[in-house]
Amino acid sequence: GLVVTRDPGRVPPAFVPDVEDAETPLHEIKRKGGDLRYCQKCSHYKPPRAHHCRVCKRCILKMDHHCIWINNCVGHENYKIFLVFVLYAATASFYSLALMIGGALHSVPKDEQSGIDSPRKSLVICGVFVCVMTLALSILLVWHVYLILHNKTTIEV
Ligand SMILES: [Zn+2]
Ligand SMILES: [Zn+2]
Repeated sequence: GLVVTRDPGRVPPAFVPDVEDAETPLHEIKRKGGDLRYCQKCSHYKPPRAHHCRVCKRCILKMDHHCIWINNCVGHENYKIFLVFVLYAATASFYSLALMIGGALHSVPKDEQSGIDSPRKSLVICGVFVCVMTLALSILLVWHVYLILHNKTTIEV
């Protein structure tokens, strides 16, 4: 909820780069440091580390990536909320994985004879799904912890 509603960090329309940059002609600013400094789609200057999102159709401050799950950009303003969300989701899937393993170990062997719809079989399907979820979320979490430690965004790697 919060990540979706919270603005990822809009570039102020009046943003003008430092005096140094302003003295440079526009076409020379464009590829300074391998990074576009002027957004032609928004027709304004981009602060350092800001990127244009094609999906949101605007520039995002310290943009990390456009998240398809929340249909919003993850940037400067909502990065912490995003990270807490990932942390909670990872913890939840670890917890359900532990519950599943516990459930599987304690299930009665009789279930195996009761056919296709046995609780054990659905537990296995669920288990595989939770395993994949836990793995994906763990990778995502480790990846972002790595990025924070190196002060980088997904775009800048
Ligand atoms: Zn833009
Ligand atoms: Zn976006």
